[in-house]
Amino acid sequence: MYPIPRISAFSKAISLFPWLLFVVVLQGCTQNEVQRVSLQGKTMGTTYHISYLPSDLSPSPENVQAEIDARLVEVNQVASTYISDSELSLLNQYPADLVYPVSDDLRLLLKESINLAQLTGGALDVTVGPLVNLWGFGPDKKPVKAPSPELISETKQRTGIDKIQLTEQGVVKSRDDIYVDLSTIAKGFGVDEVADVLESHNIHNYLVEIGGELRVKGKKEQEQDWRVAIEKPVSMEQSVQKIIMPHDNAVATSGDYRNYYEFDGIRYSHIIEPDTGKPIAHKLVSVTVVHPLCMIADGLATGFMVLGSEKGMALANREGLAALFIEKMPDGSFKESYSNAMTPFLNLQ
Ligand code: ADP
Ligand code: MG
Repeated sequence: MYPIPRISAFSKAISLFPWLLFVVVLQGCTQNEVQRVSLQGKTMGTTYHISYLPSDLSPSPENVQAEIDARLVEVNQVASTYISDSELSLLNQYPADLVYPVSDDLRLLLKESINLAQLTGGALDVTVGPLVNLWGFGPDKKPVKAPSPELISETKQRTGIDKIQLTEQGVVKSRDDIYVDLSTIAKGFGVDEVADVLESHNIHNYLVEIGGELRVKGKKEQEQDWRVAIEKPVSMEQSVQKIIMPHDNAVATSGDYRNYYEFDGIRYSHIIEPDTGKPIAHKLVSVTVVHPLCMIADGLATGFMVLGSEKGMALANREGLAALFIEKMPDGSFKESYSNAMTPFLNLQ
């Protein structure tokens, strides 16, 4: 029996349903509970949970947490579109054709965003920010109604990953009104940075989770492997769809079953298809990706959601990426499928 504690809450993007979880981690009952350090706090408009086995050399939990909190404040100050003077917000306000010098953090985030856009054939595109805002899922959420086709195509002109260029000196936008939204990889990046803080203190057995995206390493305790429960993709209930054993990897899930609204009986998701400029509309309801880096798992999960089951699965198998897809069938049941690279994580021994 595994009790399932509420270890994660929702991201800012899903604050409509803060009482629900995306991913829960199964914690076994052991006698050696005292050893483990558990930390929790708030970041990126959501919560974080960290659990680790301290090493002989690691500082006190208070000091570890202070360092983690400071690092997360820095990450937010770089990548949040909710902070008006974050490095990203200043880039978004910066004029076209001038070089905007970037920090190492922002450079890494933008470089990975460009890579992911290439890998997913443009499905994951961090310049869709204006469309995200247009559909009412950005920082200035407002009562929404479906925007007109004219407004959508006008807004689309402001998007496209080719409209930002990363050079040695910094980043250059080709239009003033390019608006980069890193929401899709920021939480994953935060998880990776927290893991780095732990590693720097010789801590090698841990779980780090921010808003449902997580990364584990080593053992939970007493040689127990980490097990992660993937939530059933339904909006009103919290139950387990699948349990995986991710080894030393990150696990990120993207879904359209929580963060959406309905208008005139149509359901609008917070994930935008860059080609059409509209929220995705297909039967794929959740994608979970396992990858060494949480930032990449996070971005890929969203990219696969945009691509849909067929194109997404073809890409996962072509590139050897570990992904679990859940589709909603007409009778309301869920159909799981997974890429070849996912197989080792489904084997729960
Ligand atoms: P969550 O933030 O709920 O974990 P995701 O990681 O799937 O969800 O990221 C979804 C967020 O990414 C959206 O709320 C939006 O801000 C942004 N977004 C939406 N569509 C795209 C897209 N095609 N490419 C990149 N970012 C997107
Ligand atoms: Mg994501």
